[in-house]
Amino acid sequence: MILLEQICKKYHREGQEIDALKDINIQVEQGDIFGVIGYSGAGKSTLVRLVNYLEKPTSGKVVVDGQCLNKLNKHQLRNTRKQIGMIFQNFNLLESKTISQNVAMPLILEKMNKNEMKTRVNELLQFVGLEDKQMSYPNELSGGQKQRVGIARALATNPRILLCDEATSALDPQTTQSILELLKKINKEYNITIMLITHEMQVIQQICNKVAVMEQGEVIEVGSVLDVFGYPEQLTTKKFVQTVISNKIPSSIKRKLKEKSEKNIYKLEMVGNHATKSILHQLIINYQLHLNVIYTNMAEIQETTLAIWYVQIEGEERTKRAAIDFLERQKVRIKEVTIE
Ligand code: ADP
Repeated sequence: MILLEQICKKYHREGQEIDALKDINIQVEQGDIFGVIGYSGAGKSTLVRLVNYLEKPTSGKVVVDGQCLNKLNKHQLRNTRKQIGMIFQNFNLLESKTISQNVAMPLILEKMNKNEMKTRVNELLQFVGLEDKQMSYPNELSGGQKQRVGIARALATNPRILLCDEATSALDPQTTQSILELLKKINKEYNITIMLITHEMQVIQQICNKVAVMEQGEVIEVGSVLDVFGYPEQLTTKKFVQTVISNKIPSSIKRKLKEKSEKNIYKLEMVGNHATKSILHQLIINYQLHLNVIYTNMAEIQETTLAIWYVQIEGEERTKRAAIDFLERQKVRIKEVTIE
C-alpha cells in the first residue's frame, strides 16, 4: 500500500518559490492500478517520484508497505527501492548495451550470479514478448519494443509496485494499446500495484480502477474510475471525461431544440449495471409518460458501461415527479437541462 499524507513540495527557482504539491493525501491499495491525470505542470511527475523517493517532500509523509520513507537511512532506502520498479516516457535505456544487458542492469547492481541472471533475463524477455531481441541494441527496436525492455528491466527485481511516468505518451495508439494490455497482465498475474501518471483519459479508462485528478499541485478529485467518469464534479475532470465520452448534446441537435423552444429535457447518467438495465422501458410502462430520446452516448469502463442519455419527458407534473423519484432510486443521476 502507498500512503501519501499531507504532502507539500516546494521548489525554489530564480528566487521564486513554486508550490508543486499542496497538501496531497492519497491512498493506493495493494493491487490497484491507480492513475493520476492532469495537464502539464499539474504536479504529476513530482508526485510519482515521491513514491520511490527520487523527490523528497518538503513536508508530509510517504509510507510504502508500512514503511515511512522519510525515516529510512540510505541502505534501507536502497532496499525499499528494489520493491519499486519504474518506467519512463523516454524509456531510459542504455544505447551502448544490448537488450539483455539493459534488462540485467538491476540484477548486476544486486550482484546476482551469472547463471541465475541469465535465466531471469530470459524469463523477463519472454514475458514481455522480446525473447528474440536479446542481442539487439535499443536503436534497432521500435518505441513499443523499447518500452517492453523498460518494463522487463523494471520487473527484474520482482517489485511489488510499478511506477509509470507517462509510459505510453511517446507511442502511437496501437502500440499504446499493447503496452496497456501488458501492464494489465503484470497487475493481474503478479498482483503488482501500479501507479501511473498520464495526461490521457483513454489510459485511465482502459486500465485503471482508481483515479486522482490533479490541478495546480492539488488533487481536485479522487475515487473509483467508475465514479469519477460517471459523476465528475470539477470542471477539469469534466473536460477530461469529455475526451472519452461526449456528455454534451451536439450543437446541431441543440440548435434544432432551441429553434422549437423544446422543454422538459433531462440528462440521465447511469453507471455500471444500471446502464444496461431496461430502466427507460420500465419508466414508460410504469408511468405512462411520453419519452423522447434526444441523444445518447455510451462508453465501456472497468468492464462495465457508462451511459449518458438526453431525453425529453412529457406528462403530468405529478407523474413526472414520481418518475424522477423512481430514476433516482435506481441510482440514475438526473438533471433538467435548459437549452441555451
Ligand atoms: P507534471 O508532471 O504534471 O507536468 P511536474 O511535477 O513536472 O508537473 O511540475 C509541477 C510544477 O513544479 C511545475 O510548475 C514545474 O515547473 C515545477 N517543477 C518541477 N520540477 C522542478 C524543479 N526541479 N525545479 C523547479 N521547479 C520544478
